[in-house]
Amino acid sequence: MIEISNVSKTYGTGDSTVHALKDVNLTIPKGKIHGVIGLSGAGKSTLIRCVNLLERPSTGSVVVDGQEMTRLSRGELNRARHRIGMIFQHFNLLTTRTVFDNVALPLELMGESRSAIKNRVAPLLELVGLSDKAKQYPAQLSGGQKQRVAIARALASKPNVLLCDEATSALDPQTTSSILELLREINQQLGITILLITHEMEVVKSICHRVSLISNGELVEDAEVGDFFTAP
Ligand code: ADP
Ligand code: ADP
Repeated sequence: MIEISNVSKTYGTGDSTVHALKDVNLTIPKGKIHGVIGLSGAGKSTLIRCVNLLERPSTGSVVVDGQEMTRLSRGELNRARHRIGMIFQHFNLLTTRTVFDNVALPLELMGESRSAIKNRVAPLLELVGLSDKAKQYPAQLSGGQKQRVAIARALASKPNVLLCDEATSALDPQTTSSILELLREINQQLGITILLITHEMEVVKSICHRVSLISNGELVEDAEVGDFFTAP
């Protein structure tokens, strides 16, 4: 489903060169929830952004759903990104759009008709528990509700992969639990493969099947969550 092979990423040149990723290899089978944990600056964000080519790897290959992402044309990449949803720490909602119109945005960009959009957005809002908030604006919502809107938006184009970039890091523990529960449901009910990055052990423990540890741009562990957290 996601195959990252020999990926390195370098920022800058000369004295200011940063080796953010060093020969990273990672395979995530379909339907799994995989966590990547590491300290700030370890390369987590660079790694997850290399999956949908928000960052372009300097070398190596990224295959999602059988497609080599680094070789796609701009149009092919846009279509491939419809199959890859993403959510962020700070939600990235559009403040001038209602909840409904935020979730509708990817469908509008895909050229869907107004009626097709209505038929798609309503069940998504129901899935994330926000049917009664459709006409509100992001500023009227709590952090957890905003992340639910972002999740609905990420699912609008029917992705089979969901990338979560510190998705619960701005939320309190109770809200974090409820968002993780929703991600688990999405994984189980819709069969969506999830790659998440976090600096929080608790997130990995509570929903991931497997976990990798990233340190200084290198993946230094890759284990079942049960094995990872068992003391030797
Ligand atoms: P993490 O998500 O684990 O905090 P990042 O992937 O954001 O780590 O960063 C990894 C390294 O790459 C850090 O040293 C960071 O300063 C550097 N870095 C990240 N993005 C850029 C960029 N756009 N330009 C230069 N350096 C960057
Ligand atoms: P940039 O303008 O930073 O080079 P893009 O134009 O590719 O990057 O994307 C702009 C923004 O759109 C990103 O910062 C991100 O918030 C969002 N975005 C891009 N691709 C996706 C995706 N597949 N899923 C969700 N959000 C995305």
